[in-house]
Amino acid sequence: MTATPLVVLSVAGTDSGGAAGLAADLATFAALGVHGTCAVTAVTAQDTTGVHGVVPMGAGDVRAQIRAVFDDLPVAAAKTGMLGSAEVAHVVADLLAGSLPLVVDPVLVATSGAVLGDAALVRAYREVLLPRADVVTPNRDEAAALTGLPRDTDPEELALTVHALGPAVVLTGGEPGSGTCRDLVVRDGVVTVLEHPAVATANDHGTGCTYSAALAVHLARGLDLEAAARRAQAFVAEALAVSAPWVLGCGRGPVAH
Ligand code: PLP
Repeated sequence: MTATPLVVLSVAGTDSGGAAGLAADLATFAALGVHGTCAVTAVTAQDTTGVHGVVPMGAGDVRAQIRAVFDDLPVAAAKTGMLGSAEVAHVVADLLAGSLPLVVDPVLVATSGAVLGDAALVRAYREVLLPRADVVTPNRDEAAALTGLPRDTDPEELALTVHALGPAVVLTGGEPGSGTCRDLVVRDGVVTVLEHPAVATANDHGTGCTYSAALAVHLARGLDLEAAARRAQAFVAEALAVSAPWVLGCGRGPVAH
């Protein structure tokens, strides 16, 4: 008997520390039982203390990787993480938008504070990629960068302002110290709040990547956005609970995969 597994694509950067980026995405795909494929946008020299170097791939290299995957494999959904340059954002919009569920995690700054995208990339997100994506999953910092609003803007206003750029939105995160993780899902102008007890941990590097990868898997399975977002939130909470007691590295430790 033969079977074809569900195939999901990640377009993202590497993290040599194994916490974020493609490491998180491919591990999440495997944990959720789908076949993960990837297009590398940048190679980062990185550990728990920070990003020490970034070597970007050219837009043509990223295009060739996506083409190779698409020419051979039945990709059911895709997510993007660190794109690194406006040119790569254009390639993604060109090859992926409109043909399958596309989740955009608008990576601009690493958990450690390292800048992973410039003003031209913000503009490409706003003007080219987000208007053609299905879902965007910013945290508060990314939503502030995308909209120009202050990061302490009311979360509902932040989420609705990102939504005005085109796609459905999941604004991830909660009030620091509130004990509650509060994700806001916005679709067709309607805001739904998904709450979950927060996991207190310093080992949270890779959380955004893991969330958006899990969301792409559940959308590939045909779940609607709210159901997929609930499952992705629960998956991340379980992963954070596993890594919470870890003592690993001198900085911000990885979320478990
Ligand atoms: N992708 C790469 C390659 C990164 O290095 C980072 C952060 O360091 C991210 C994505 C975003 O990580 P997080 O999921 O912690 O927001």
